[in-house]
Amino acid sequence: MSITPGTDVPSLPIDLPAPGGLAEAQVCGRACVWCAVVLDNTTAIDLGAREIDAHGSVTRWFPRSCGPCGRARFRDAFTAHRSECPVCSTKLPWCTTGKRLFGAFLRADRPEAPR
Ligand SMILES: [Zn+2]
Ligand SMILES: [Zn+2]
Repeated sequence: MSITPGTDVPSLPIDLPAPGGLAEAQVCGRACVWCAVVLDNTTAIDLGAREIDAHGSVTRWFPRSCGPCGRARFRDAFTAHRSECPVCSTKLPWCTTGKRLFGAFLRADRPEAPR
């Protein structure tokens, strides 16, 4: 099995908990990575595939979160990004990262919106 970085879902620039400290359900994407609530497919937020080092070999991790956690994290990440980013802090349009963070926040805020 070979893994090519950066092919499918791009990961969002947000901090996730270390997968080594999570329960199996959180690593499998069945529970929120932050609050461990069991997720339902209609409200879960995909956080993008990550590559993690598990027991010496690289493996894929598909972290997901619940709506409230995702909203709070995306909002914080976007606020932090805007205060640091020379593009997003001064003018429109925002940079790609800024747009992706804001888009993720909007989708998390309105789970019924089409993706
Ligand atoms: Zn949560
Ligand atoms: Zn930016």
